[in-house]
Amino acid sequence: MEKETLFTKIAQGSIPSVRLYEDDVCFVIMDINPVVKGHSLVIAKEPYANMQETPDDVLTHMILAAKKVDARLRSVLGCQGTNILINNDRASGQEVPHLHIHVIPRYTDDGRKFGFEHDFYARGEMEKLGQELSFS
Ligand code: AMP
Repeated sequence: MEKETLFTKIAQGSIPSVRLYEDDVCFVIMDINPVVKGHSLVIAKEPYANMQETPDDVLTHMILAAKKVDARLRSVLGCQGTNILINNDRASGQEVPHLHIHVIPRYTDDGRKFGFEHDFYARGEMEKLGQELSFS
């Protein structure tokens, strides 16, 4: 049996949702606890746990769906921007281990902020780490 998650239950309709869009690969619902009203989730139909598990073609499809959601939020709500983000595994704050992309409408001066505090690099540390992290 396929893994069951909150979002597979929503996909099957056993948990209600407000659905904005659906195709063979993904569906879009409104987040029940929005950062800003209109906050939507693009959800893979297959319950891939995270980005690493998700096939490239599915990820590509989902980011293009997020682009459509962004356009819809801008035209219907008149927001001036969006935050588009993936919480990728529990350490990043992911609560539902089933890949989804948040699309959050943003307005100039809406006062919302990410809660991140910023770290800092010692002299030379960023360059050294950059060498370890670079790839081709
Ligand atoms: P994440 O922390 O990235 O896993 O995000 C999970 C999101 O699912 C949160 O923003 C929740 O508000 C949202 N959520 C939880 N339950 C529901 C639900 N029943 N319908 C719609 N969104 C939900």
